[in-house]
Amino acid sequence: MAEELNPFKIAQTQLDEAAKIMKLDPQALAILREPMEILEVQIPVKMDDGTTKVFRGFRVHYNNARGPMKGGIRYHPQETLDTVKALSAWMTWKTALANIPYGGAKGGIICDPEKLSKGELERLSRGYIRAIYKFIGPDIDIPAPDVFTTPEIMAWMVDEYEKIVGHSAPGVITGKPLEIGGSLGRTEATGRGGMFVLREAAKKINLDLSKATIAIQGHGNVGQYSHKLAIEMFGAKVVAVSDVYGAIYNEKGIDYNALMAHKQKTGTVTKFPGAKSITNEELLELNVDVLIPAAVENQITSKNADKIKAKIVLELANGPTTPEADLILHKRGILGVPDFLSNSGGVIVSYFEWVQNINGYYWSLEEVNSRLDRKMSESFWDTMETAEKYKTYPRMGAYILAVDRVAKAMKARSWY
Ligand code: GLU
Repeated sequence: MAEELNPFKIAQTQLDEAAKIMKLDPQALAILREPMEILEVQIPVKMDDGTTKVFRGFRVHYNNARGPMKGGIRYHPQETLDTVKALSAWMTWKTALANIPYGGAKGGIICDPEKLSKGELERLSRGYIRAIYKFIGPDIDIPAPDVFTTPEIMAWMVDEYEKIVGHSAPGVITGKPLEIGGSLGRTEATGRGGMFVLREAAKKINLDLSKATIAIQGHGNVGQYSHKLAIEMFGAKVVAVSDVYGAIYNEKGIDYNALMAHKQKTGTVTKFPGAKSITNEELLELNVDVLIPAAVENQITSKNADKIKAKIVLELANGPTTPEADLILHKRGILGVPDFLSNSGGVIVSYFEWVQNINGYYWSLEEVNSRLDRKMSESFWDTMETAEKYKTYPRMGAYILAVDRVAKAMKARSWY
């Protein structure tokens, strides 16, 4: 049978497996296997050439037993409703594991942002908010950035929302620019949070990060900051990085600032002077200490899991490893740090941003980062402890902790 690659089916399989291990009440499982509500919208956009093009967008509310729902918005040409559903489930587990008072949601628009002018992108973003504004709110569902969405896009969105409702509402969207209520540290939060978890994971397997080699798949917001911070915080050697155009390798390490200057000029990490060009597949299979998938879903599958040589796979993308690959990595003694643990830094600092917006009182960068560190480190060790207690692998440990918290909240509300 071919390996299942539908992200929502994968999310359900993972949940079913956790439910079995933790002996979850079947009534709770029935609620948790599907999203609570789904909104699918049409967004007509006036293009620069005067024609109107119709885009499709989604917003999925997975569960709100623990609080208002939270999750990013992706702009992607291959976006599907099932991907958004899966991502909304993973947001539910992510906020529960981080123990922040939210449920899970996710949004997406089928579009190729590289093919849109800035004006078209703004009209599309504002149009999306006009289509979904009744479905979101600071106490209902709070969107944020994700793949191909930026603080600038969040600014257009919050502005559109406030124009519709007629009052200031900074807490409706997080990941905003600082000037309009963003939080210090939010832009680099997913990468920084990932590095805090990597530090703990390295302690767990006695890996000296100052001598470690790292390969990073993806050089968007998350991959980029992981590259920068792995060097800055640990003195680690980032020997390979990639983007949609290809991958590069240099055993002596890839300098962050020089690569960023090259990217600024050429728009890609490829053809970076001094580095060898390799394929994305080769990057994943490199003989490195740490592999960081920071791009999209389904990168480590049953086809390549037995060729991965890293000691730690730190998942900073959502859903990079399939359930079959998970088992292979675990059997081979590779420490797989699951996505909704290692990439929760973004939503944790989103939560800090929302708290600051509600209070109208803003924190220092040190305060944001030290609170983030505490939360990430706690989640890591709680996950490891739970995995050991149930004699299972880390992703299941994280699931058991998260699902138990959501189920308890549903029980307290007498949903089952
Ligand atoms: N999109 C990010 C994630 O997948 C952040 C979500 C948020 O800040 O709400 O976790």
